Amino acid sequence: MFKIARRVNSSLYQVQQAAFSAAKPGQKFLIFFGAPGVGKGTYARLFSEEFKLNQISTGDELRKIIKGTAPSTMSKELIADIKKTVSSGGLVSDDIVIEIVKEKLKEPESQNGVILDGFPRTLAQLSKYDKLFPIHLVLNLNLKWEILLEKLMARRTCADCGRAYNFCNINRDGYLMEPLYPKKTDCTKCNGEPKLVIRDDDTEKVITERMKEYEAKTVPLLNEYKKKGVLVDFEIKKGVKDYPALRDLVKSKLSL
Ligand code: AMP
Repeated sequence: MFKIARRVNSSLYQVQQAAFSAAKPGQKFLIFFGAPGVGKGTYARLFSEEFKLNQISTGDELRKIIKGTAPSTMSKELIADIKKTVSSGGLVSDDIVIEIVKEKLKEPESQNGVILDGFPRTLAQLSKYDKLFPIHLVLNLNLKWEILLEKLMARRTCADCGRAYNFCNINRDGYLMEPLYPKKTDCTKCNGEPKLVIRDDDTEKVITERMKEYEAKTVPLLNEYKKKGVLVDFEIKKGVKDYPALRDLVKSKLSL
């Protein structure tokens, strides 16, 4: 009996070891969490540039697949299906996004660590991810729904490089968010003149759908992060100008 228990325990231990073997020593795994439009992508970009971490945005990767600018072995039908899901505000299948994340984690840019932006979005994604990689910190970014909607409606995205800009100026109820306009130094390809477009899913109807998906399928992940003791909350008030405080908070938690 004891022998069997020991064997079971030791194989469990091996499974746990194998589970974390995909992470390299010293590699950091961060998740930037929050509703659509909160600024996850912008903060993740700034943080990844400063700390040399790979920003993995499943949304950006899906948009590249839809546009045909990412190498993909997917059939035309599957790509058309992804396009339909994304433009209606639904969630793409867990298996597809898990595969995207696994591929991005193999990139040399991931060697110091990664910031996951927009992933995981469901409990099933988290549980699949959990079997392969650790989570060192989840930064939960909070912002009121009315402000999120206003920001999303005023968001413009570069059709070439995917960088997001914001044209609204919010100064009320303790919020002071200046617009984020393109600069020459932003991108060597666009040279200060990005081809700005409104994302297909940045319409009021689709934003409402995305918010519903977020509340129903993504918010429940917060409980799991709380149980793991990796959750850190941050209240957004100044948009991109919140970055220094946010960076210091993450740095202190991870001793970067
Ligand atoms: P985002 O750029 O993060 O706002 O994502 C845009 C859209 O891509 C979402 O509304 C979903 O349709 C899809 N998407 C992005 N990430 C995921 C994910 N982790 N799981 C499922 N669908 C996703």
